[in-house]
Amino acid sequence: MIIMLLGAPGAGKGTQAVKLASILDIPHISTGDIFRSNIKEGTELGKLAASYINDGKLVPDEVTFSIVEDRLKKPDCDNGAILDGFPRTIPQAEMLDKFLASEGKKLDIVINIVIDENEIVERLSQRRVCPECKATYHLGHRPPKNGLKCDFCGTEVILRDDDQPDVIQKRFKEYHESTEPLIEYYKNKGNLIESQGVNGIEQSLNNTIKALINRKI
Ligand code: AMP
Repeated sequence: MIIMLLGAPGAGKGTQAVKLASILDIPHISTGDIFRSNIKEGTELGKLAASYINDGKLVPDEVTFSIVEDRLKKPDCDNGAILDGFPRTIPQAEMLDKFLASEGKKLDIVINIVIDENEIVERLSQRRVCPECKATYHLGHRPPKNGLKCDFCGTEVILRDDDQPDVIQKRFKEYHESTEPLIEYYKNKGNLIESQGVNGIEQSLNNTIKALINRKI
């Protein structure tokens, strides 16, 4: 089963995607993570991606799609995958549909994680990530136990470049212009369900699991 998580920046897609992938035993494909690891390794893709990401912009559709296409062709995706942060534009969604159809597959379910925008801005500005093992923290609700050191590997946790306040505003603008139209796109296709991303990770994940179990599609 191929599942995609949709939602505004900071809606908790990544956190839920990791947990769902583990529950369903299918790979988690995060375009944001793929870009970040390429940026860290200093690859050509990383250099290109950074020039967009650090400015709150989307990486071009063709570049992003070809990464996902290559990843979905790997045998570990035979039983499905959780797509996190892709597609983010209508052209990406169309390219994905075309590719999956050519493989005799389809995007089975799109889960739209709904959350209040003010809550997200607060969450993103307080978010810290471990650049080494990718653990995430919230300085208010879930800070590292030992100052700014990651609980798992001891590396100093950081504010993502794209979580800087001015970049957050640009990411929201980009979300409203390019990604939000996907809600209508998938509603029309009949594969969209909604989950309220409220009251912390556990409650949000419970909402998603309930939405998956109770879905009419
Ligand atoms: P994320 O971790 O999903 O929030 O992604 C971080 C950044 O990577 C985004 O703000 C975009 O600049 C870029 N990115 C991730 N996924 C995509 C995508 N599907 N299309 C274009 N850019 C993307």
